[in-house]
Amino acid sequence: MAETSIEWTDATWNPVAGCSVVSPGCTNCYAMRMAARLDAIGMQKYRGLTRKSGRRAVWTGKIHLDETALTIPTRWRKPRRIFVNSMSDMFHEGVPAAFAAKVWSVMASTPQHTYQILTKRPDLMAKVTSSFPLLENVWLGTSVESGEYLDRINQLREVRAAVRFISFEPLLGSVAEADLTDIHWVIVGGESGPRARPMMRQWVDEIETLCREARAAFFFKQWGGVRKKKTGRMYRDQTFDEMPRRSPIA
Ligand code: SF4
Repeated sequence: MAETSIEWTDATWNPVAGCSVVSPGCTNCYAMRMAARLDAIGMQKYRGLTRKSGRRAVWTGKIHLDETALTIPTRWRKPRRIFVNSMSDMFHEGVPAAFAAKVWSVMASTPQHTYQILTKRPDLMAKVTSSFPLLENVWLGTSVESGEYLDRINQLREVRAAVRFISFEPLLGSVAEADLTDIHWVIVGGESGPRARPMMRQWVDEIETLCREARAAFFFKQWGGVRKKKTGRMYRDQTFDEMPRRSPIA
């Protein structure tokens, strides 16, 4: 099992690797840094997915479709929440719909698991999944880092899903104007790592208020920063680990 320290999931599963940046939220992409490290230690799956740009690693845009990884969740007996493609974006332009369909088949055949798929390309998510069966055990979400990208939420509303969710991480600006109608779950997190950009407390307050109004579950992941263990994940003197209730399928 690919265990993970991500607070809102139990395991990661990566049938796809590789991506390209789309917006400021991608600048310090953890997957991009990790892919460079895995390539450096000789992992074939990550070969050529990144290149050096100064002292940083950046995606080349090459996508690796890992057929051998497809059956991994079928071997996990215990029910798990599984974050799909933590090392990519499942709805990147380079992922053929036929491959996404294979991922869908695996998820359909393993209803004991709950799958969580996040994209920064919700328009393509809506398009690609429109012909796929609606699966009760698949949650579909988009990442929004600031008010400039609120349209992704409108695009997500076009997606048929048992659970629709937003990850406001890394939160880089106020999203006070967000419309959370028909959104079931919200994750909030500050950026972490050596180049972490700050997250204001007020932006978190605004999101919590929006969640209460829209009856969306509120999950506060972390404050982030250079030392995220130090800043922790307490908000208003408590942790918020709310999880969504499945909708009666919209
Ligand atoms: S879309 Fe996601 S995986 Fe791709 S570069 Fe941006 S943050 Fe990284």
